[in-house]
Amino acid sequence: MSLTRPLVILLLLALLGFLALQRCAGERPQQLSRSRILMGTVVEISASSADPGRLEAAVTDAFAEMTRIEGLMRPAGEGSDVARLTVSEQGTEVAPETAEVIALGLQVAAASGGAFDMGLGRLKALWGIETETPRVPAPPEIRQALAGAGLGDLRLDGRRVEKAQPALAVDLGAIAKGYAVDRAVEVLRRAGIESAAVNAGGNIRLIGDHGGRPWRIAIQHPREAAGQLAVLELVDTSVSTSGDYERFFEQDGVRYHHILDPRTGYPAGRCQSVTVVTASAALADALSTAAFVLGPEEGLALLQRFPATEGLIVAADGTRHASPGLEARLTWR
Ligand code: AMP
Ligand code: MG
Repeated sequence: MSLTRPLVILLLLALLGFLALQRCAGERPQQLSRSRILMGTVVEISASSADPGRLEAAVTDAFAEMTRIEGLMRPAGEGSDVARLTVSEQGTEVAPETAEVIALGLQVAAASGGAFDMGLGRLKALWGIETETPRVPAPPEIRQALAGAGLGDLRLDGRRVEKAQPALAVDLGAIAKGYAVDRAVEVLRRAGIESAAVNAGGNIRLIGDHGGRPWRIAIQHPREAAGQLAVLELVDTSVSTSGDYERFFEQDGVRYHHILDPRTGYPAGRCQSVTVVTASAALADALSTAAFVLGPEEGLALLQRFPATEGLIVAADGTRHASPGLEARLTWR
């Protein structure tokens, strides 16, 4: 046997190994993360795919879809269904997407006994919590802004939305971000993306898992700015958090925040934060706001009325309440 033969075999093996490695590298999923300011919040899309060209285009298209939804549902501006509804006397026809959001919102409104209310636009404007000049309104102003709001303030008939009262101002701020996240996920899925996370200011939807493991989603501690309350291990689902620390101002030592109790006209006082896990981001968004208004006991009871829906609530006194189905996926911090 000549000496060169094993050398040739070794070289061949090395070449094969190199080719195999190259092949693996070609198929290894590429990661892409992009963020933009949309709907008054930071929206982040992280996705992975073995095809980098497709990834870039899919993420760009997903942002474009979210921008389109924002255009339909923002409180003011040309092309906004919500703006047209608010100025209309009795109501108006809306885009199918807006009708879908209002239909889901009406379900949550009914299930929560009116704690969730898409007719609080005037009350929101009165408090101005999301403006540069927030203030505590006088009780008569609050009563006036609440007039006509409550269960039955909006009705939906196909694509036509009817208002119970001309002055009613529609506000989809508690549900539209989640819906936009659902639409972005739809775009990513259609482009063949099998692993992604879309996060619009705490309204998150996950496609698949993260490199063969569950996604680890850290939940903000409501009273420690840089602290975590818990970590959730989730696959292919949505998670939304509503908190009194997100948008608020303080006056005379009292915190006035952006989630309003339609029964009183004041910021809801029973919770510090509510996290909801369920299939759709729109439902998670709406339910986290609704449960926040209801408080820990009634809030968890509300979640039970929706299929495969779990929650984590920090009450106003700081006590923690989790639905039994979430315990296995939760690590407290
Ligand atoms: P979120 O951050 O999803 O809990 O939504 C809060 C936003 O929803 C506020 O900024 C308001 O635009 C709106 N909102 C406040 N209170 C309510 C309520 N009780 N029902 C429905 N929407 C509300
Ligand atoms: Mg919400």
